[in-house]
Amino acid sequence: MGNTRKETLDPDDWDASRALAHKIVDEAVDHLDKVRERPVWRPMPDEVRVRFQSGLPEDSAPLDQVYNEYRETVGAYPMGNVHPRFWGWYMGASNFTGALGDFLAAVEGSNLGGGNTGAAQIEQQVVDWLKEIAGFPKTSSGTLTSGGSMANLVAHTVIRNLAAGYDVRKEGIAALKRPLRFYASDQVHSCHQKALETLGLGSRALVEVQSDDSQRMRLDALGAAIAQDRANGLQPACVIGTAGTTNTGAIDDLTAIADLCEREGLWFHVDGCIGGVLRLAPDHAHLVAGIERAGSVAIDPHKWLHAPFEAGAVLIKDPEAHFSTFEMHGAYLQLQERGMIAGKFLADYGLELSRGFRALKIWMAFKEQGSAKFGRLIAQDIALARYMAGQIEAHPLLELIAPVDLNIVCFRYMETEEDAAKILNTEIMLRIQERGLAVPSDTTVQGKHGLRCAFNNHRTQREDIDGFLSDVLRIADEILSEKTA
Ligand SMILES: *Cc1c(COP(=O)(O)O)cnc(C)c1O
Repeated sequence: MGNTRKETLDPDDWDASRALAHKIVDEAVDHLDKVRERPVWRPMPDEVRVRFQSGLPEDSAPLDQVYNEYRETVGAYPMGNVHPRFWGWYMGASNFTGALGDFLAAVEGSNLGGGNTGAAQIEQQVVDWLKEIAGFPKTSSGTLTSGGSMANLVAHTVIRNLAAGYDVRKEGIAALKRPLRFYASDQVHSCHQKALETLGLGSRALVEVQSDDSQRMRLDALGAAIAQDRANGLQPACVIGTAGTTNTGAIDDLTAIADLCEREGLWFHVDGCIGGVLRLAPDHAHLVAGIERAGSVAIDPHKWLHAPFEAGAVLIKDPEAHFSTFEMHGAYLQLQERGMIAGKFLADYGLELSRGFRALKIWMAFKEQGSAKFGRLIAQDIALARYMAGQIEAHPLLELIAPVDLNIVCFRYMETEEDAAKILNTEIMLRIQERGLAVPSDTTVQGKHGLRCAFNNHRTQREDIDGFLSDVLRIADEILSEKTA
């Protein structure tokens, strides 16, 4: 009778939606179960690419049709980081439980800006677990972020405000008496420069201290830079120690940096986006000794904990400074002692107000697998990197271009001349990627260009490395014979 039914986004037929959802889950399981049989990556043909040019769809379409389009145009052309032979840059390999966690989080639907919910309790519990992992006291504060870049930005904001010694939130950086300086090795991740630029301190606020032959920050150079800056009227504020550089996996001497920061009265921040979880692996925990003495640490659960993107985290030992940097409540968002909004307001610890339920995927995977297993997976990746380094050292045509201290291997097919080496190794990398054999990336270490494999992948086996190295040699031969032909 008439058109009285109001519209909603809920399906007209829940049973049909249930059937499609079951099919999607079945295909997701198949996708992961058979991941090894697929190319790691493949280029997208133009006829697929043009399909992304269609405009805003005004009319409705059945969900199964939408899903099919997803399968053909998106699902068929992934990055490949869930594949056992993906080692480029520094990703994580995701995990099925985490994927279910993201699904459940979306169904549960809470906004983690705050609120008196189980979801908010879980986020705080996960942050507490990360404190245990990093050796931080439970009295520290912390928050989950979209990733490591945001985690470091949150920390640097707190550090800036503390170092300024006045109300920066009110007066702004224009009132700084002396320019602030943050010190890190020349291997520091680029997100720190971005953060200091964003904070209005300028890229000059980041002093890149020379690293040694093992890509670790030189402590003598650090001390000299601080002394010189003080003499020049600048204000040293913070030393950033890197626990696992992105380029080569080098770990700064965190204990020595902690000592220096104590002597100099500087904040000690650790970028632990890679190595912040190393204490989970008992045989390797010593590599990050001193991390527990930092004032703040950035950790990236979407890297070595394989949480599906996105999930970063920051821990701060001065909860008062953390809170007073970000606390903000509009008239429409006043806290209460009781009711839905009671409890710690999570958005008071970062830049975002509305926040997703990132913690669930981490919480479920830890509960299911146990933290010891994550430690074993970390040790497994380190063992794989050492295995590959051994294979390279034993081969007359391959050479390492950086020491393998952690889980990153930088190497190249030997060529006497530097430019020729770069051209050859780049071509090897691109052919390996384009043929779907593996995804390495490339880098330059102390002037030497080479390929780079970061073993941050719970699916990788030794056979994958053996296969990859023989692919490298075979394709090098192929390229060299094309040149002479
Ligand atoms: C990856 C990484 C970052 C940046 O983290 P995102 O999650 O990519 O934003 C920062 N520092 C180090 C050492 C990293 O490896």
